[in-house]
Amino acid sequence: MLPNGDEERPLLEDEDVQVLTALAALVVLAVGGAAYFGSQQPTRSTERFSNGTHEFKRTVILISIDGLRQVISCSHSDSYPYLNSSASYLDRGLTPHLLDISKQGLRAKYMKPVFPTLTFPNHWALMTGLYVESHGIVANNFWDPVTNTEFWYNRFESMSLADWWLGEPMWETAGRAGVVTANQMWPGPPVTLSGASPTYFVPWRDKVPLQEKLDQILEWVDIGDVEKRPELILTYEPSLDQAGHATGPMSALVNEILAKIDVFARDLHHSLLSRNLSHIVDVVFVSDHGMGDTGEVEWIYLDGDDILGETWNNVTHYDGWPSFGLRFVEGTDERVVLEKLVHASNEPQFSGKFQVYITDSYAGGYLEEAMPMPPRYHFSENERIAPIWVVPTLGCALTSKKLGEKGMSIGNHGYDNEESAMQAIFVVHGPFSHGAKLYSTDTQTSAWHSVIDGTYIIPGFANVELYNLVMRLLGIEAWAAPNNGTTGFWDKYVDL
Ligand SMILES: [Zn+2]
Repeated sequence: MLPNGDEERPLLEDEDVQVLTALAALVVLAVGGAAYFGSQQPTRSTERFSNGTHEFKRTVILISIDGLRQVISCSHSDSYPYLNSSASYLDRGLTPHLLDISKQGLRAKYMKPVFPTLTFPNHWALMTGLYVESHGIVANNFWDPVTNTEFWYNRFESMSLADWWLGEPMWETAGRAGVVTANQMWPGPPVTLSGASPTYFVPWRDKVPLQEKLDQILEWVDIGDVEKRPELILTYEPSLDQAGHATGPMSALVNEILAKIDVFARDLHHSLLSRNLSHIVDVVFVSDHGMGDTGEVEWIYLDGDDILGETWNNVTHYDGWPSFGLRFVEGTDERVVLEKLVHASNEPQFSGKFQVYITDSYAGGYLEEAMPMPPRYHFSENERIAPIWVVPTLGCALTSKKLGEKGMSIGNHGYDNEESAMQAIFVVHGPFSHGAKLYSTDTQTSAWHSVIDGTYIIPGFANVELYNLVMRLLGIEAWAAPNNGTTGFWDKYVDL
Protein backbone atom coordinates (compact mmCIF):
# COMPACT_ATOMS: atom_id res chain seq x y z
CA MET A 1 0.00 0.00 0.00
CA LEU A 2 1.09 3.54 -0.63
CA PRO A 3 0.68 6.75 1.37
CA ASN A 4 -2.34 7.21 3.61
CA GLY A 5 -2.57 3.47 4.09
CA ASP A 6 -2.05 1.44 7.20
CA GLU A 7 0.27 -1.18 5.89
CA GLU A 8 3.12 -0.19 8.16
CA ARG A 9 3.16 0.17 11.90
CA PRO A 10 4.95 3.18 13.28
CA LEU A 11 8.62 2.64 13.96
CA LEU A 12 9.95 2.03 17.41
CA GLU A 13 11.90 5.24 17.36
CA ASP A 14 10.61 8.52 16.10
CA GLU A 15 13.55 9.34 13.90
CA ASP A 16 13.54 12.06 11.34
CA VAL A 17 14.33 11.18 7.80
CA GLN A 18 17.86 12.09 6.99
CA VAL A 19 19.14 12.98 3.59
CA LEU A 20 21.13 10.25 1.98
CA THR A 21 24.68 11.36 1.48
CA ALA A 22 26.34 8.15 0.50
CA LEU A 23 25.66 5.33 -1.84
CA ALA A 24 23.57 2.44 -0.68
CA ALA A 25 25.17 -0.83 0.25
CA LEU A 26 26.95 -2.52 -2.56
CA VAL A 27 25.29 -5.74 -3.48
CA VAL A 28 26.76 -8.61 -5.38
CA LEU A 29 24.20 -9.79 -7.86
CA ALA A 30 23.96 -13.54 -8.07
CA VAL A 31 22.46 -13.39 -11.50
CA GLY A 32 22.68 -14.71 -14.99
CA GLY A 33 21.40 -13.52 -18.30
CA ALA A 34 22.49 -11.51 -21.23
CA ALA A 35 25.61 -9.40 -21.44
CA TYR A 36 25.16 -6.21 -19.48
CA PHE A 37 26.28 -2.88 -20.85
CA GLY A 38 28.68 -4.86 -23.01
CA SER A 39 30.40 -3.52 -26.03
CA GLN A 40 27.83 -5.12 -28.30
CA GLN A 41 25.32 -2.81 -29.90
CA PRO A 42 22.37 -5.03 -30.73
CA THR A 43 19.94 -3.93 -33.36
CA ARG A 44 16.28 -3.90 -32.48
CA SER A 45 13.73 -5.10 -34.97
CA THR A 46 12.00 -2.21 -36.71
CA GLU A 47 8.94 -4.32 -37.49
CA ARG A 48 5.77 -2.27 -37.69
CA PHE A 49 2.15 -3.34 -37.49
CA SER A 50 -1.01 -1.66 -38.67
CA ASN A 51 -4.35 -1.36 -36.97
CA GLY A 52 -5.84 -0.17 -40.26
CA THR A 53 -5.26 3.52 -39.64
CA HIS A 54 -1.90 3.86 -37.93
CA GLU A 55 1.50 2.22 -37.70
CA PHE A 56 2.30 0.60 -34.36
CA LYS A 57 5.26 -1.14 -32.79
CA ARG A 58 4.72 -4.14 -30.52
CA THR A 59 3.35 -2.73 -27.28
CA VAL A 60 3.01 -4.02 -23.71
CA ILE A 61 0.58 -2.54 -21.17
CA LEU A 62 1.47 -3.85 -17.70
CA ILE A 63 -1.03 -3.19 -14.92
CA SER A 64 -0.53 -3.99 -11.25
CA ILE A 65 -3.64 -4.43 -9.11
CA ASP A 66 -2.18 -4.30 -5.62
CA GLY A 67 -3.21 -7.16 -3.34
CA LEU A 68 -5.26 -9.17 -5.86
CA ARG A 69 -4.84 -12.63 -4.45
CA GLN A 70 -4.87 -15.96 -6.23
CA VAL A 71 -4.65 -18.77 -3.71
CA ILE A 72 -2.80 -21.87 -4.86
CA SER A 73 -5.45 -24.37 -3.88
CA CYS A 74 -8.07 -25.13 -1.29
CA SER A 75 -6.27 -28.20 0.00
CA HIS A 76 -5.08 -26.49 3.17
CA SER A 77 -8.55 -25.63 4.37
CA ASP A 78 -8.02 -27.46 7.65
CA SER A 79 -5.21 -25.14 8.68
CA TYR A 80 -6.61 -22.07 6.97
CA PRO A 81 -10.41 -22.12 7.03
CA TYR A 82 -10.82 -19.13 4.73
CA LEU A 83 -9.57 -21.03 1.73
CA ASN A 84 -12.97 -21.91 0.40
CA SER A 85 -14.03 -21.89 -3.21
CA SER A 86 -14.16 -18.11 -3.39
CA ALA A 87 -10.82 -17.51 -1.69
CA SER A 88 -9.28 -16.55 -5.02
CA TYR A 89 -10.53 -13.11 -5.94
CA LEU A 90 -11.03 -14.06 -9.60
CA ASP A 91 -13.25 -17.02 -8.70
CA ARG A 92 -16.02 -15.10 -6.93
CA GLY A 93 -18.19 -14.46 -9.93
CA LEU A 94 -17.47 -10.74 -9.53
CA THR A 95 -14.91 -10.40 -12.31
CA PRO A 96 -16.61 -11.88 -15.38
CA HIS A 97 -14.78 -9.60 -17.78
CA LEU A 98 -11.34 -10.21 -16.31
CA LEU A 99 -12.06 -13.93 -16.45
CA ASP A 100 -13.27 -13.61 -20.02
CA ILE A 101 -10.10 -11.73 -20.92
CA SER A 102 -8.11 -14.56 -19.31
CA LYS A 103 -10.00 -17.08 -21.43
CA GLN A 104 -9.42 -15.15 -24.61
CA GLY A 105 -5.81 -14.89 -23.45
CA LEU A 106 -4.36 -16.97 -20.65
CA ARG A 107 -3.74 -16.88 -16.93
CA ALA A 108 -1.32 -18.51 -14.52
CA LYS A 109 -2.40 -20.82 -11.73
CA TYR A 110 -0.67 -18.26 -9.52
CA MET A 111 2.32 -15.93 -9.59
CA LYS A 112 4.63 -16.32 -6.64
CA PRO A 113 5.75 -13.11 -4.94
CA VAL A 114 9.20 -12.59 -3.48
CA PHE A 115 9.75 -12.62 0.27
CA PRO A 116 8.80 -10.52 2.15
CA THR A 117 5.40 -10.42 0.44
CA LEU A 118 5.15 -6.63 0.70
CA THR A 119 4.27 -3.98 -1.87
CA PHE A 120 7.57 -2.22 -2.49
CA PRO A 121 9.85 -5.28 -2.50
CA ASN A 122 7.52 -6.99 -4.96
CA HIS A 123 6.87 -4.10 -7.30
CA TRP A 124 10.62 -3.64 -7.64
CA ALA A 125 11.10 -7.39 -8.21
CA LEU A 126 8.50 -7.21 -10.98
CA MET A 127 10.32 -4.25 -12.51
CA THR A 128 13.87 -5.65 -12.25
CA GLY A 129 13.51 -9.44 -12.25
CA LEU A 130 15.65 -9.43 -9.10
CA TYR A 131 15.18 -11.02 -5.72
CA VAL A 132 15.07 -8.68 -2.77
CA GLU A 133 18.64 -9.23 -1.57
CA SER A 134 19.81 -8.03 -4.99
CA HIS A 135 17.43 -5.15 -5.65
CA GLY A 136 17.80 -3.61 -2.19
CA ILE A 137 14.20 -2.70 -1.32
CA VAL A 138 14.15 -5.16 1.56
CA ALA A 139 10.84 -4.03 3.11
CA ASN A 140 8.41 -1.11 2.92
CA ASN A 141 10.35 0.54 5.74
CA PHE A 142 13.87 -0.43 6.71
CA TRP A 143 17.11 0.86 8.16
CA ASP A 144 20.31 1.08 6.16
CA PRO A 145 23.26 0.69 8.55
CA VAL A 146 25.77 1.90 5.93
CA THR A 147 24.15 5.31 5.46
CA ASN A 148 22.39 5.39 8.84
CA THR A 149 19.19 6.22 7.05
CA GLU A 150 15.64 4.93 7.07
CA PHE A 151 13.77 4.07 3.88
CA TRP A 152 10.21 5.34 4.12
CA TYR A 153 7.89 4.05 1.42
CA ASN A 154 5.33 6.73 2.22
CA ARG A 155 7.56 9.80 2.30
CA PHE A 156 8.37 11.04 -1.18
CA GLU A 157 11.63 12.73 -0.13
CA SER A 158 12.89 9.36 1.11
CA MET A 159 11.28 6.97 -1.36
CA SER A 160 12.26 8.98 -4.43
CA LEU A 161 16.00 8.92 -3.76
CA ALA A 162 17.59 6.83 -6.47
CA ASP A 163 20.27 5.39 -4.15
CA TRP A 164 17.83 2.97 -2.61
CA TRP A 165 16.77 1.30 -5.84
CA LEU A 166 19.35 -1.21 -7.08
CA GLY A 167 19.07 -3.09 -10.33
CA GLU A 168 17.59 -1.87 -13.57
CA PRO A 169 13.81 -1.49 -14.02
CA MET A 170 12.32 -2.69 -17.28
CA TRP A 171 11.47 0.85 -18.31
CA GLU A 172 15.14 1.79 -18.06
CA THR A 173 16.19 -1.24 -20.09
CA ALA A 174 13.54 -0.40 -22.66
CA GLY A 175 14.76 3.17 -22.78
CA ARG A 176 18.34 1.99 -23.46
CA ALA A 177 16.95 -0.03 -26.35
CA GLY A 178 15.22 3.01 -27.81
CA VAL A 179 11.73 2.07 -26.63
CA VAL A 180 9.40 4.90 -25.61
CA THR A 181 8.07 4.22 -22.09
CA ALA A 182 5.29 5.52 -19.85
CA ASN A 183 4.94 5.01 -16.12
CA GLN A 184 1.72 5.80 -14.33
CA MET A 185 2.40 5.58 -10.58
CA TRP A 186 4.30 2.26 -10.50
CA PRO A 187 6.09 2.17 -7.12
CA GLY A 188 9.69 3.16 -7.60
CA PRO A 189 11.91 6.17 -8.14
CA PRO A 190 11.19 8.78 -10.82
CA VAL A 191 14.89 8.68 -11.78
CA THR A 192 17.28 5.76 -11.28
CA LEU A 193 20.85 5.76 -10.01
CA SER A 194 22.14 6.00 -13.58
CA GLY A 195 19.96 9.03 -14.26
CA ALA A 196 17.35 7.27 -16.38
CA SER A 197 13.67 8.19 -16.29
CA PRO A 198 10.62 7.00 -18.23
CA THR A 199 9.68 9.00 -21.33
CA TYR A 200 6.33 9.82 -19.74
CA PHE A 201 5.82 9.81 -15.99
CA VAL A 202 2.73 10.32 -13.84
CA PRO A 203 3.71 10.58 -10.15
CA TRP A 204 1.84 8.86 -7.34
CA ARG A 205 -1.40 10.29 -6.04
CA ASP A 206 -3.88 8.47 -3.84
CA LYS A 207 -7.57 8.00 -4.63
CA VAL A 208 -7.22 8.52 -8.37
CA PRO A 209 -10.33 7.14 -10.11
CA LEU A 210 -9.76 4.12 -12.34
CA GLN A 211 -11.41 6.00 -15.19
CA GLU A 212 -8.67 8.65 -14.99
CA LYS A 213 -6.01 5.94 -15.20
CA LEU A 214 -7.77 4.35 -18.16
CA ASP A 215 -8.02 7.73 -19.89
CA GLN A 216 -4.28 8.25 -19.39
CA ILE A 217 -3.46 4.83 -20.88
CA LEU A 218 -5.65 5.53 -23.90
CA GLU A 219 -4.22 9.02 -24.32
CA TRP A 220 -0.81 7.39 -24.68
CA VAL A 221 -2.13 4.67 -27.00
CA ASP A 222 -3.75 7.34 -29.19
CA ILE A 223 -0.59 9.41 -29.73
CA GLY A 224 -0.50 9.77 -33.50
CA ASP A 225 3.27 9.77 -34.01
CA VAL A 226 4.55 6.19 -33.75
CA GLU A 227 7.95 7.49 -32.64
CA LYS A 228 6.41 9.31 -29.67
CA ARG A 229 3.84 6.70 -28.68
CA PRO A 230 4.92 4.55 -25.70
CA GLU A 231 5.47 0.85 -26.36
CA LEU A 232 5.75 0.00 -22.67
CA ILE A 233 2.98 1.40 -20.47
CA LEU A 234 2.93 0.75 -16.71
CA THR A 235 0.01 1.47 -14.41
CA TYR A 236 -0.48 0.88 -10.71
CA GLU A 237 -3.78 0.64 -8.79
CA PRO A 238 -3.87 0.41 -4.96
CA SER A 239 -7.58 0.47 -4.05
CA LEU A 240 -8.06 -3.30 -3.74
CA ASP A 241 -5.15 -3.63 -1.33
CA GLN A 242 -6.46 -0.71 0.72
CA ALA A 243 -9.84 -2.43 0.97
CA GLY A 244 -8.23 -5.77 1.84
CA HIS A 245 -6.35 -4.18 4.72
CA ALA A 246 -9.33 -2.20 5.96
CA THR A 247 -12.02 -4.87 5.96
CA GLY A 248 -10.35 -8.19 5.13
CA PRO A 249 -10.13 -10.33 1.99
CA MET A 250 -13.62 -11.83 2.36
CA SER A 251 -15.36 -8.48 2.91
CA ALA A 252 -18.12 -6.74 0.97
CA LEU A 253 -15.81 -3.78 0.34
CA VAL A 254 -13.22 -5.99 -1.35
CA ASN A 255 -15.97 -7.46 -3.51
CA GLU A 256 -17.18 -3.98 -4.39
CA ILE A 257 -13.69 -2.88 -5.46
CA LEU A 258 -13.21 -6.13 -7.37
CA ALA A 259 -16.27 -5.30 -9.46
CA LYS A 260 -14.81 -1.84 -10.20
CA ILE A 261 -11.49 -3.39 -11.22
CA ASP A 262 -13.45 -5.67 -13.53
CA VAL A 263 -15.16 -2.73 -15.22
CA PHE A 264 -11.77 -1.08 -15.70
CA ALA A 265 -10.42 -4.28 -17.30
CA ARG A 266 -13.49 -4.53 -19.53
CA ASP A 267 -13.25 -0.93 -20.67
CA LEU A 268 -9.55 -1.23 -21.42
CA HIS A 269 -10.14 -4.46 -23.33
CA HIS A 270 -13.01 -2.99 -25.36
CA SER A 271 -11.04 0.18 -26.04
CA LEU A 272 -8.16 -1.83 -27.51
CA LEU A 273 -10.52 -4.03 -29.53
CA SER A 274 -12.28 -0.97 -30.94
CA ARG A 275 -8.88 0.33 -32.05
CA ASN A 276 -8.11 -3.00 -33.70
CA LEU A 277 -5.04 -3.45 -31.52
CA SER A 278 -5.47 -6.91 -30.00
CA HIS A 279 -2.91 -8.41 -32.41
CA ILE A 280 -0.38 -5.69 -31.52
CA VAL A 281 -0.79 -4.90 -27.82
CA ASP A 282 -0.20 -7.35 -24.98
CA VAL A 283 -2.10 -6.41 -21.84
CA VAL A 284 -0.67 -8.02 -18.70
CA PHE A 285 -2.52 -7.86 -15.38
CA VAL A 286 -0.45 -8.77 -12.34
CA SER A 287 -0.56 -8.27 -8.60
CA ASP A 288 2.26 -7.94 -6.14
CA HIS A 289 0.99 -10.33 -3.44
CA GLY A 290 -2.21 -11.73 -2.00
CA MET A 291 -4.04 -10.89 1.22
CA GLY A 292 -4.49 -12.91 4.40
CA ASP A 293 -7.38 -12.69 6.84
CA THR A 294 -5.91 -11.26 10.04
CA GLY A 295 -9.08 -10.13 11.76
CA GLU A 296 -8.45 -12.45 14.66
CA VAL A 297 -4.80 -12.97 15.39
CA GLU A 298 -2.86 -14.39 18.30
CA TRP A 299 -0.59 -11.69 19.68
CA ILE A 300 2.93 -12.67 20.66
CA TYR A 301 4.79 -10.28 22.97
CA LEU A 302 8.47 -10.46 22.11
CA ASP A 303 9.30 -8.57 25.30
CA GLY A 304 7.37 -11.07 27.39
CA ASP A 305 9.29 -12.81 30.18
CA ASP A 306 9.12 -16.09 28.29
CA ILE A 307 10.74 -14.62 25.16
CA LEU A 308 13.16 -11.63 25.29
CA GLY A 309 12.10 -9.92 28.49
CA GLU A 310 14.21 -6.82 29.16
CA THR A 311 16.57 -7.76 26.32
CA TRP A 312 13.89 -6.20 24.11
CA ASN A 313 15.07 -2.82 25.32
CA ASN A 314 18.21 -3.27 23.20
CA VAL A 315 16.14 -3.30 19.99
CA THR A 316 16.57 -0.12 17.95
CA HIS A 317 14.79 -1.06 14.71
CA TYR A 318 12.33 -3.67 13.59
CA ASP A 319 11.94 -3.81 9.84
CA GLY A 320 9.48 -5.63 7.62
CA TRP A 321 6.15 -5.61 9.43
CA PRO A 322 4.45 -8.05 10.03
CA SER A 323 7.90 -9.64 10.43
CA PHE A 324 10.41 -8.09 12.78
CA GLY A 325 13.91 -7.71 11.36
CA LEU A 326 15.77 -6.76 14.51
CA ARG A 327 18.67 -4.37 15.01
CA PHE A 328 20.19 -3.52 18.37
CA VAL A 329 22.02 -0.83 20.29
CA GLU A 330 25.76 -1.01 19.84
CA GLY A 331 27.43 -3.50 22.10
CA THR A 332 24.46 -5.85 22.28
CA ASP A 333 25.41 -9.52 22.24
CA GLU A 334 23.31 -10.71 19.29
CA ARG A 335 23.92 -14.32 20.26
CA VAL A 336 22.15 -13.80 23.58
CA VAL A 337 19.12 -12.33 21.78
CA LEU A 338 19.14 -15.16 19.28
CA GLU A 339 19.37 -17.80 22.00
CA LYS A 340 16.31 -16.43 23.77
CA LEU A 341 14.28 -16.18 20.57
CA VAL A 342 15.21 -19.66 19.34
CA HIS A 343 14.56 -21.17 22.74
CA ALA A 344 11.12 -19.56 22.89
CA SER A 345 10.20 -20.60 19.35
CA ASN A 346 10.80 -24.21 20.34
CA GLU A 347 8.60 -24.02 23.43
CA PRO A 348 5.22 -25.74 23.02
CA GLN A 349 3.28 -22.49 23.59
CA PHE A 350 4.97 -20.80 20.61
CA SER A 351 5.74 -23.78 18.40
CA GLY A 352 4.75 -23.09 14.79
CA LYS A 353 3.73 -19.51 15.54
CA PHE A 354 6.91 -17.77 14.51
CA GLN A 355 10.25 -18.61 12.97
CA VAL A 356 13.62 -17.12 13.89
CA TYR A 357 16.24 -16.71 11.20
CA ILE A 358 19.73 -15.26 11.02
CA THR A 359 20.96 -13.48 7.90
CA ASP A 360 24.28 -12.61 6.36
CA SER A 361 24.68 -9.57 8.60
CA TYR A 362 24.43 -11.64 11.79
CA ALA A 363 27.75 -11.50 13.64
CA GLY A 364 26.73 -12.83 17.01
CA GLY A 365 28.63 -16.08 17.02
CA TYR A 366 27.74 -19.73 16.55
CA LEU A 367 24.54 -21.17 17.92
CA GLU A 368 23.85 -24.75 16.93
CA GLU A 369 20.06 -24.44 16.83
CA ALA A 370 20.09 -21.22 14.81
CA MET A 371 18.42 -21.42 11.43
CA PRO A 372 19.73 -19.35 8.54
CA MET A 373 17.19 -17.52 6.42
CA PRO A 374 15.81 -20.18 4.03
CA PRO A 375 17.72 -20.00 0.73
CA ARG A 376 14.40 -20.08 -1.14
CA TYR A 377 13.70 -16.58 0.16
CA HIS A 378 16.84 -15.15 -1.49
CA PHE A 379 16.77 -12.76 1.43
CA SER A 380 20.04 -12.66 3.32
CA GLU A 381 22.99 -11.21 1.42
CA ASN A 382 22.45 -7.51 1.84
CA GLU A 383 23.53 -5.23 4.66
CA ARG A 384 20.07 -3.67 4.64
CA ILE A 385 18.63 -6.99 5.87
CA ALA A 386 18.75 -6.96 9.66
CA PRO A 387 20.81 -9.71 11.38
CA ILE A 388 17.90 -11.49 13.07
CA TRP A 389 14.44 -11.87 11.56
CA VAL A 390 11.39 -13.07 13.41
CA VAL A 391 8.76 -14.19 10.89
CA PRO A 392 5.24 -14.86 12.19
CA THR A 393 2.95 -17.52 10.78
CA LEU A 394 -0.24 -16.15 9.20
CA GLY A 395 -2.70 -15.94 12.08
CA CYS A 396 -0.13 -14.70 14.58
CA ALA A 397 1.16 -11.17 15.16
CA LEU A 398 4.30 -9.89 16.85
CA THR A 399 4.27 -6.99 19.27
CA SER A 400 5.67 -5.56 22.50
CA LYS A 401 4.03 -4.07 25.59
CA LYS A 402 4.67 -0.57 24.29
CA LEU A 403 3.29 -1.31 20.81
CA GLY A 404 0.23 -3.11 22.12
CA GLU A 405 -2.41 -4.78 20.00
CA LYS A 406 -3.54 -1.99 17.72
CA GLY A 407 -1.23 -2.36 14.75
CA MET A 408 -2.86 -5.20 12.85
CA SER A 409 -5.33 -4.48 10.06
CA ILE A 410 -8.17 -6.89 9.30
CA GLY A 411 -6.33 -8.10 6.23
CA ASN A 412 -2.55 -8.28 5.86
CA HIS A 413 0.32 -9.75 3.87
CA GLY A 414 4.08 -9.97 4.16
CA TYR A 415 4.19 -13.62 5.21
CA ASP A 416 5.93 -16.67 3.72
CA ASN A 417 5.82 -16.37 -0.06
CA GLU A 418 4.72 -20.00 -0.31
CA GLU A 419 1.66 -19.28 1.83
CA SER A 420 -1.39 -19.92 -0.34
CA ALA A 421 -3.15 -16.64 0.48
CA MET A 422 -0.04 -14.62 -0.44
CA GLN A 423 -0.06 -15.63 -4.12
CA ALA A 424 -0.60 -13.09 -6.90
CA ILE A 425 -2.28 -13.14 -10.31
CA PHE A 426 -1.00 -13.18 -13.86
CA VAL A 427 -3.49 -12.62 -16.68
CA VAL A 428 -2.40 -11.74 -20.20
CA HIS A 429 -4.24 -11.06 -23.43
CA GLY A 430 -2.76 -10.22 -26.80
CA PRO A 431 -0.34 -11.69 -29.31
CA PHE A 432 1.67 -13.47 -26.59
CA SER A 433 -1.27 -15.48 -25.31
CA HIS A 434 -2.53 -16.16 -28.82
CA GLY A 435 0.88 -17.45 -29.83
CA ALA A 436 1.33 -19.43 -26.63
CA LYS A 437 -1.92 -21.30 -27.20
CA LEU A 438 -0.92 -22.18 -30.75
CA TYR A 439 2.74 -22.88 -30.12
CA SER A 440 2.97 -24.58 -26.75
CA THR A 441 1.72 -28.05 -26.03
CA ASP A 442 0.45 -29.29 -22.71
CA THR A 443 3.41 -31.67 -22.45
CA GLN A 444 5.81 -28.74 -22.86
CA THR A 445 4.16 -26.60 -20.27
CA SER A 446 2.07 -28.75 -17.89
CA ALA A 447 -0.65 -26.20 -18.62
CA TRP A 448 -4.35 -26.90 -18.37
CA HIS A 449 -6.19 -26.21 -21.60
CA SER A 450 -9.93 -26.50 -22.11
CA VAL A 451 -10.97 -26.86 -25.74
CA ILE A 452 -14.55 -26.04 -24.75
CA ASP A 453 -14.14 -22.42 -23.73
CA GLY A 454 -10.49 -21.78 -24.50
CA THR A 455 -9.43 -21.52 -20.85
CA TYR A 456 -5.67 -21.85 -20.70
CA ILE A 457 -3.98 -21.92 -17.32
CA ILE A 458 -0.21 -22.12 -17.18
CA PRO A 459 1.57 -23.42 -14.07
CA GLY A 460 2.47 -21.03 -11.28
CA PHE A 461 5.76 -19.20 -11.64
CA ALA A 462 7.95 -16.74 -9.72
CA ASN A 463 7.37 -13.05 -10.36
CA VAL A 464 11.07 -12.48 -11.11
CA GLU A 465 10.35 -14.18 -14.46
CA LEU A 466 8.16 -11.30 -15.63
CA TYR A 467 11.04 -8.99 -16.57
CA ASN A 468 12.34 -11.39 -19.22
CA LEU A 469 8.86 -11.89 -20.66
CA VAL A 470 8.44 -8.16 -21.22
CA MET A 471 11.93 -7.99 -22.75
CA ARG A 472 10.92 -10.72 -25.14
CA LEU A 473 7.55 -9.25 -26.07
CA LEU A 474 9.21 -5.93 -26.85
CA GLY A 475 11.94 -7.66 -28.84
CA ILE A 476 14.72 -6.26 -26.66
CA GLU A 477 16.11 -9.38 -24.97
CA ALA A 478 19.60 -8.47 -26.11
CA TRP A 479 19.44 -5.39 -23.88
CA ALA A 480 18.22 -7.27 -20.78
CA ALA A 481 20.04 -6.48 -17.57
CA PRO A 482 21.26 -9.36 -15.38
CA ASN A 483 18.35 -10.71 -13.42
CA ASN A 484 17.11 -13.69 -11.43
CA GLY A 485 14.73 -14.92 -14.12
CA THR A 486 15.39 -18.38 -15.54
CA THR A 487 17.20 -18.37 -18.87
CA GLY A 488 14.85 -19.77 -21.51
CA PHE A 489 11.86 -19.82 -19.13
CA TRP A 490 9.47 -18.41 -21.76
CA ASP A 491 10.81 -20.50 -24.67
CA LYS A 492 8.06 -23.05 -24.24
CA TYR A 493 5.40 -20.38 -24.73
CA VAL A 494 6.90 -18.05 -27.29
CA ASP A 495 7.79 -18.88 -30.85
CA LEU A 496 9.68 -15.69 -31.60
ZN1 LIG B 1 0.85 -4.46 -2.24
